Amino acid sequence: MYIDDLKLLGRNENDLENEMKIVQTISKDINIKFGLEKCARIRVKRGSVQGKMHVLKEEIESKCRLCKQHEETIDHLTSGCPILAKNEYLMRNDKVCTHLHYSICKALGTETTDKWYTHIPKPVCEYGDVTLLWNQAVHTDREVAANMPDIIIKNKKEKTCTLIDVAIPADRNVV
Ligand SMILES: [Zn+2]
Repeated sequence: MYIDDLKLLGRNENDLENEMKIVQTISKDINIKFGLEKCARIRVKRGSVQGKMHVLKEEIESKCRLCKQHEETIDHLTSGCPILAKNEYLMRNDKVCTHLHYSICKALGTETTDKWYTHIPKPVCEYGDVTLLWNQAVHTDREVAANMPDIIIKNKKEKTCTLIDVAIPADRNVV
């Protein structure tokens, strides 16, 4: 019989040792082997992993397995890895924009697919007074490096232009 996903949290090494002794004693009482060789230990300070992780005496690299530059934290994997930024983060950004584009098309009363995820945004679409642009560069008098907002809504009648640019930052980068 196995017990999986057991986590022990201690304020310091002593706390952890004591907790391990308790689990070991209980495991022995109910005839379950305490597999320390499969356990990992991490030191966390204010939410970030400190240094290397230890599995018994074997040292394991705590750096990200993709970029090998930063610590492999949840923050790093969800929004900080330069390797994932090239494709995965871009794909995630496009998915959010596709949903927005789909919702705008629906609000304008144009024909769209039943499901947002099967919607393929066209680079330019015109609906009456409204022109909807997808990933189109904005030409300005002075050169602007980031000149391609995700979505632009031009309304000729109201003489308005709405620029939508989506960013998906980790909470830690915002708060
Ligand atoms: Zn990385």
